[in-house]
This record gives sequence, structure tokens and C-alpha cells, in this order.
Amino acid sequence: MSLPADLHMHTPLCRHASGEPVDYARRAVELGFTEIGFSDHSPMPRDDFDNWRMFDRQLDDYVSKVRLAQKKFPQLKILLALEVDFLPGHEEWIRSLAARQPWDYFIGSVHYLSDSWAIDNPEQISEWKKRDAFEVWKIYFDRLTLAAESKLFDIIGHADLPKKFGIRPAQDCTPLYEKFLNAVAKNNCAIELNTAGLRKDCREIYPSRDLLVLAFQKNVPITFGSDAHAPDEVGMNFAEAMQLARDMGYTQTLRFENRQRHSVSL
Ligand code: ZN
Ligand code: FE
Ligand code: FE
Ligand code: ZN
Repeated sequence: MSLPADLHMHTPLCRHASGEPVDYARRAVELGFTEIGFSDHSPMPRDDFDNWRMFDRQLDDYVSKVRLAQKKFPQLKILLALEVDFLPGHEEWIRSLAARQPWDYFIGSVHYLSDSWAIDNPEQISEWKKRDAFEVWKIYFDRLTLAAESKLFDIIGHADLPKKFGIRPAQDCTPLYEKFLNAVAKNNCAIELNTAGLRKDCREIYPSRDLLVLAFQKNVPITFGSDAHAPDEVGMNFAEAMQLARDMGYTQTLRFENRQRHSVSL
């Protein structure tokens, strides 16, 4: 059984992860991976935007840490990427980030429902009580659709992140998923199977089976990511994610280099 690339992992520069890229790479080699990618939280136009990402001036430092891992583990292909927050109005900023380094891919993630509320931030969990779950889902998926339409990203991260704390709407979300996935398919984007959800209150891979069934129908390609914030989370629950992908009918996954994608068998 060959493992798909783990394309979602963080570094301590984001201030809520531990272990250096070399430590993640060592773990990946132990587990038998042939390819991984670092996708740490990208800098924002303002360094005081929040407290869970690298500072703008640390971008070169980030690249150096990834390059060091590449040098120490030549047997492992290590890609250079970012997990970039999509907020409407940040398009030019994201384009400027893309021009600064020879990135292999960008993961576009929506964490912010407004400029001040990151729906997955445990420190802001009280915000959920002020809102209706379906309303959150609607705004979130509208933003996620805009992210896919922006053509700024190769992969959309953890596509149903609002379920993180286990709060779910009673309404049928199919129309939201449909609109989002149509945008993903049309704009040559992909979605990831992100196993971090299994480690959160929702106890489920992002995205749900409901969403994945539609994704497969629409020929939306998939990637895999552990969203590791520590070396021992590298490749976590990948057997389960691969089984889920196969259950949905997937036989292919994507690999990236220089922001070009190609299909490989799963
Ligand atoms: Zn993080
Ligand atoms: Fe994220
Ligand atoms: Fe992440
Ligand atoms: Zn993430």
C-alpha cells in the first residue's frame, strides 16, 4: 500500500505547532511516505491581524526551514506551500504572496467568517452562541465558493470546517455543497481529505461523506492532509482517509509541483 502525499502540515512559526520541519520529515520517512508538503499559515497584510500565524518578515525563515528538511531527507520529496486564509478583499495580497517564493501549491482555507471571527478558534467559541448554525454554514460556504472562484488556490482546505466543535445545522446543506463544488470543478481546484477533524469534537474527517459523494459525482479531485501541528500527527489516520476515498469511488489523487498538478493512482 503506497501512501498518498501528506500535503498539509504546519511549523512552529505559526505559534501553535511544535517540532521543526526536519522532525516532521523524519516522521514521514519512518511511516513510509515518499512525499509531503508544508503548508503553514500564511502571513497577513498586518502582523497584528491575529496571533496564530507567521509574521510577514518570517517568510524567508519558513522557506529556509523547509529547504533544510529537503536537504536532510533527500529520499523524501518535500513540497513548499502555504495554507492561505481567504478573505474577500485579500486577493491582491494573496497574489503578492504567490509571487514571493517558488511555491508548489496553495491551500485556500476559510477560517474567518468576518474580519474578526475565526470559526475554528477555541478562544472565540462563545461567538457560536450568538449565531444560528445554518446561517454560519451559509456564509462559510459562500466564502468557500468565492475562494474556489478566485483561482488563487490549488486545493481548498478542510471544506466543512464549521463542524469542528460538533455544532451542526438541522437543515439540508446540499445546495451549499453543490454551489461550492461546482466552483471547485470549474476552476481546476481540488479539495482535501483532512484527518484533523477526527481529532476534534466533530470526530469526522473534513469533509463529510455527504459532501464527498457530490464531489466524486462532479469529478472534483482530492488530496490528503493530516493538518499536523506536531511531528507525531504526520500521516495520522491516513488509512481511514484512503478507505473513505475508495468508498466514494476515488481511484486517483493529485500531486503538485510548481503549482502544476498531475493525477496519480491511489
Ligand atoms: Zn493551525
Ligand atoms: Fe486551517
Ligand atoms: Fe492547517
Ligand atoms: Zn488547517
